[in-house]
Amino acid sequence: MIAGCPRCANRLDESADGWRCEHHGYVPPLWSPDAASYDGFGDHLRRAEDFPTYLPWPLAGGWRVTDFGVVRGNARARATMVSVAGSTEPDGPVEVLVVSEEPGTGLGARCAGTVHSDPGAEIIASRPTARVRLDSQPVPLWPVSTAEHDLSLDRSVVAGEAGGRWLWLVLRPASAVFLLTGDWPLADVSGMGAHLLDVPFGGPPPGW
Ligand SMILES: [Zn+2]
Repeated sequence: MIAGCPRCANRLDESADGWRCEHHGYVPPLWSPDAASYDGFGDHLRRAEDFPTYLPWPLAGGWRVTDFGVVRGNARARATMVSVAGSTEPDGPVEVLVVSEEPGTGLGARCAGTVHSDPGAEIIASRPTARVRLDSQPVPLWPVSTAEHDLSLDRSVVAGEAGGRWLWLVLRPASAVFLLTGDWPLADVSGMGAHLLDVPFGGPPPGW
């Protein structure tokens, strides 16, 4: 597993005082694999303990888990992320990244390419435009604007709240957000065990 900064692409240096990013100072590391694999995902779930890891579930045919990670220092986990890739009829190749995080962690914003660590202020005034079904409960999601930020990245960002934490979804290309007009299913796979044996892992990791 690689120890990276949850807020940027830097790797972290370990010292007696903790893990340090040269831009963001001391942060809890984002632990992610060199390449996604079933064994690595087992390590990820053990490190995350009871923190949820949300995966599109059941994973549609031809879709793969391309990356995952957990933010955890010496204390309990603060965030998890999973990236899946597949294809849909209107969009062709599609990538969906799911982040669950405690407020102030910054991983969702880094994956989304937005400036604010938490989506709260941005989504409070608007209406939800997307929805997922999480362990059979509908979860409304609000659009997070990316227009002021990196225009070169073709993506949609939506965010909401699940289990008292921020839930972010980043979809590429941007038009793939129409996947989320119905009841797109997500599940917490942290206790799923043997069912995950059937999940394909690997392929190119996301470009964030
Ligand atoms: Zn950093």
